[in-house]
Amino acid sequence: MLQYYRKLKRNNQKMRNNEMANLMNEFPSIEIKQDEPLMYYTYTHTGGPADWLAFPKNVDEVKQLVDYARTHQVPLTVLGNASNLIVKDGGIEGLVLILTKMDAITVDHNEVTAQAGAAYIKTTEVARDHSLTGLEFAAGIPGSVGGAIFMNAGAYGGETKMVASSATVLFPDGTIKKMSNQELDFGYRHSSIQDSHGIVLDATFTLQAGVHDEIAAKMKELNDRRTAKQPLDLPSCGSVFKRPQGYFAGKLIHDAGLQGYTAGGAQVSKKHAGFIVNIDHGTAADYVAVIHHVQATVKKKYGVALQTEVRIIGRN
Ligand SMILES: Cc1cc2nc3c(=O)[nH]c(=O)nc-3n(C[C@H](O)[C@H](O)[C@H](O)COP(=O)(O)OP(=O)(O)OC[C@H]3O[C@@H](n4cnc5c(N)ncnc54)[C@H](O)[C@@H]3O)c2cc1C
Repeated sequence: MLQYYRKLKRNNQKMRNNEMANLMNEFPSIEIKQDEPLMYYTYTHTGGPADWLAFPKNVDEVKQLVDYARTHQVPLTVLGNASNLIVKDGGIEGLVLILTKMDAITVDHNEVTAQAGAAYIKTTEVARDHSLTGLEFAAGIPGSVGGAIFMNAGAYGGETKMVASSATVLFPDGTIKKMSNQELDFGYRHSSIQDSHGIVLDATFTLQAGVHDEIAAKMKELNDRRTAKQPLDLPSCGSVFKRPQGYFAGKLIHDAGLQGYTAGGAQVSKKHAGFIVNIDHGTAADYVAVIHHVQATVKKKYGVALQTEVRIIGRN
């Protein structure tokens, strides 16, 4: 039996290598890395290898890779800045696209359009430099524009849904559609992209004319608040849990005495109870162990079921 499985594993590896050779031959102009550790890219500094990690530079390349994955039945995963992810230690099977090379930002009157891989923070700075107000809330959110649309990222009373007027989305069947704010169906850390499995290619933010120095001052104030409250000196994925109805996740975790709880190298932050920080070569398994312990303890003490905001993906 063991021999049978070894042979199966060898055959799968052979098939994988052949497919890889095809993929690289087919797209010589796209940077593609094999067995690339994702811990180099994630904000938690954890995560095993992507079988293949591709860096498309434009929409055409994204489309070609998506078509290839569909035709060859290769599992496909899209990453932005990997700031809201725990990639498991076994890595990600198949083809992983990272969109950070698609980062152009343009301004037309009061509309800012950013490609999916543009940093959300950079987008807020471009808006500020054009004296456009509305995006200040996002000044310190370290995700990409695609990730912000996907998650309806928000902070300090602002949410992406308040300013994103449309997004261009590539659907798994290869069609591309401009989705309106309504069609994006934003909710608390939710958008319709999570259900449709589309890939956000770009987004347009409709802003208001404002005063440059006031916008800059607001962004600085919010970033100062972040620095004061959040453990930004250590790897993390931001707030790990969603806000439960009627409670604050951080307060429940603090009141349960969980700050400082550690599994391996992952620790509930002593500075901000909603964060789990990587203090010493923590693995994804360490993160998951801390998450489970926090969920079980808070449930037992307060009867509240904490749901993760961070997305846990990949193979064990
Ligand atoms: C220090 C710190 C502070 C943070 N503060 C905040 C905060 O104040 N508010 C907040 O909301 N979040 C916060 N976050 C979390 C995170 O920055 C946001 O959720 C952000 O929107 C994630 O974007 P990303 O590009 O990093 O997405 P990733 O982490 O790369 O991916 C997250 C999900 O989005 C999907 N995705 C990414 N790009 C695309 C795309 N182009 N098309 C389709 N799907 C895509 C991925 O498949 C994945 O499922 C913080 C994180 C850190 C580390």
